[in-house]
Amino acid sequence: MTTYSTAARRVIDRCLELAQFTEEPGHITRTFLSSPMHQVHALLTQWMEAAGCSVRIDAVGNLIGCYPGSEGAWRRLLIGSHLDTVPHAGAFDGILGVLIGLALVECLGGKPLGAAIEIIGFSEEEGVRFGTPFIGSRALAGTVDCDLLQQISGAIRDYGLDPLRVPEAVLHGDVIGYLEFHIEQGPVLEILNLPLGIVDAIAGQSRYVVEFQGKANHAGTTPMHLRRDAIAAAAEWILTVEEEARNTPGVMATVGKLDVAPAASNIIAGTARATLDVRHAADAVRRSAVERILAAAGQIVSRRFLTYSAEQILEQPAVEMDSCLKSLLDRAVSAIGCPVHRMISGAGHDAMILAQRCPAAMVFLRSPGGVSHHPGENVLEDDVAAALAAGGNFLENYVYG
Ligand SMILES: [Zn+2]
Repeated sequence: MTTYSTAARRVIDRCLELAQFTEEPGHITRTFLSSPMHQVHALLTQWMEAAGCSVRIDAVGNLIGCYPGSEGAWRRLLIGSHLDTVPHAGAFDGILGVLIGLALVECLGGKPLGAAIEIIGFSEEEGVRFGTPFIGSRALAGTVDCDLLQQISGAIRDYGLDPLRVPEAVLHGDVIGYLEFHIEQGPVLEILNLPLGIVDAIAGQSRYVVEFQGKANHAGTTPMHLRRDAIAAAAEWILTVEEEARNTPGVMATVGKLDVAPAASNIIAGTARATLDVRHAADAVRRSAVERILAAAGQIVSRRFLTYSAEQILEQPAVEMDSCLKSLLDRAVSAIGCPVHRMISGAGHDAMILAQRCPAAMVFLRSPGGVSHHPGENVLEDDVAAALAAGGNFLENYVYG
């Protein structure tokens, strides 16, 4: 554990060191192929090479360090996460998983395993620069379509890479699986007082824009019983969204944005446009929750003499993590003396994209205060040491030399 404690301290120090490379002084903001990404790549390359890896950058800017396996080993295990950040981010989202992968290789001290280990730093996960998330992992999955490629070609060229070579980034050969360590970004592990969680599945998502259409009118002269108030209808509906989620275990439902018009204090609102985000680990449960939520909107508008429309923006199925990798991770976590806790990821991650091409699994590390996508984001050194110990145990037992 001493080795892992020392390695954990170094992982955290490196996360903080890489956090200096930002587009905005005083904040951590590092989007897809932005200029500070060059500095991140340079330092990571140096560290990876010192650990015995050969390093390359593919055409979407994913940085890949390959630690060779023993002679005759032909398979690869991928360990990684993303290098980009949201605006005004914390220092650990994404990058922690890359540095844990590197530390696991460093802890091997040059000893080869029965498979090569590729540490991957994905160039894009957050979707900030082009509004499309997971560009890095999508390149490995082979799902960067022509439209997206056209959109990102200029950025790729400006970074010094060749957009025509993006198809070459597709994952090939004999890949055992993809393993991603990531901060939980929520409060569950902290509440349970656990350092680690093993992700069972990544929740599916449905997103809609729901528009309530009433009639704008004078706030002083229109009697209450004759109003067709779009804000009041939306407000009533928003509470049913909350109630629906509270009454259905595991459902997360959010109205995160409300645009109203004409938006004046002395005018009854004529329209209210609300976003709806519904998530659950089981697609059937999510879909029926969405149906009930939209049916509630129908009832509310008919009682209030309004109309409504619902436009689907996103329909993303849940992604189960690989059951074999999960049970191996259960064993590794239990072997280091940690209670095994399976959990659902409410957020999307690169692992769900990689799962289209190879077995994928994730380990969450406790997020102090449940804080993420915020400068206050943190991780505990002991939890990183636990993740390294579990990861080391996993490599020893699964990818033995
Ligand atoms: Zn992330």
